[in-house]
Amino acid sequence: MVNFFKISRTEKRLFFSRLIVVLSIFVTIGSLQMSLLVDELQAYHYVIPLLLSSFIGSFIGWNAVLKHRLEKSNRVKSDFLASISHELRTPLTVIIGFSKIMTEMEDLNIRGHEFAYRIHLSGEHLLSFVNNFLDTSAIESGTLSLNITQLSLNNLIHECVLLMTPVAKEQGVSLDLSLTDKNIIFAIDELRLKQVILNLISNSIKYNTENGNVSITLEEYEAHHYRISIEDTGIGIPASLHKKIFTQFERLDQNTSSIRGSGLGLTISKSLIILMGGSLDFSSEQGVGSKFWIDIHD
Ligand code: ADP
Repeated sequence: MVNFFKISRTEKRLFFSRLIVVLSIFVTIGSLQMSLLVDELQAYHYVIPLLLSSFIGSFIGWNAVLKHRLEKSNRVKSDFLASISHELRTPLTVIIGFSKIMTEMEDLNIRGHEFAYRIHLSGEHLLSFVNNFLDTSAIESGTLSLNITQLSLNNLIHECVLLMTPVAKEQGVSLDLSLTDKNIIFAIDELRLKQVILNLISNSIKYNTENGNVSITLEEYEAHHYRISIEDTGIGIPASLHKKIFTQFERLDQNTSSIRGSGLGLTISKSLIILMGGSLDFSSEQGVGSKFWIDIHD
């Protein structure tokens, strides 16, 4: 509960400026109307609009104070997350680098290689978690900047599929790619679009079943309107959980706790696509599979 007597000077200024504006508007309009409608003005003709406008003015003023508080605490949270994440990133990069070297060292036995491999995997997982935190705070504070360049969508998607092929193989999932014959040149942030597509393909592999399939498609569904779809034959998502899917830290209660994840990927992906002027949507059926698609246009 915010105590009125303990609010800052800026907040008091916010509150009283709103109150005074509403008071003056109401009192002016109210008394003008009264003088036109009523022949003999009584005290209550002034008191009623005055009370009413004080009430509405206080309400609007208080809302402005609360909004200001919320924005301030969001900023503090984002700054805190960003600084913590930066501090974590440097030692993590070292851990990941050295553990990778250790997995290939000849003077280590099999157990040593296995330990190094586990350290490497956990380090990568933690780094992707930290990166997700950084992205979330940058998106929330509005400081995420895009680097727009002209690129071939066909090449970009092809590259993503090549990157994910070993991961799919390891999980026993096949990847199919179907691109338009036309080479589509599009102005977009290459890194961020790749990040979203890789996240969607990674999910479609993670939440798939053995011998499952993922189809990645690029089509021009209307003139200058392009759709990138990632469709899987995985576990799917029950309709009752659809509305939660883009919520931060939401991993949906689907017996998938053994699968690594943070519940941030889809939230970030959606925000990034919106920031780039597109949209991200999905359809899914439990036990049948899911389809996620990105729509972008010139
Ligand atoms: P993460 O995968 O890190 O948990 P995401 O934000 O990418 O986070 O996804 C949120 C949740 O949505 C996942 O935990 C999973 O339950 C569900 N989900 C996402 N993609 C799929 C998919 N292709 N098939 C089934 N469930 C999915």
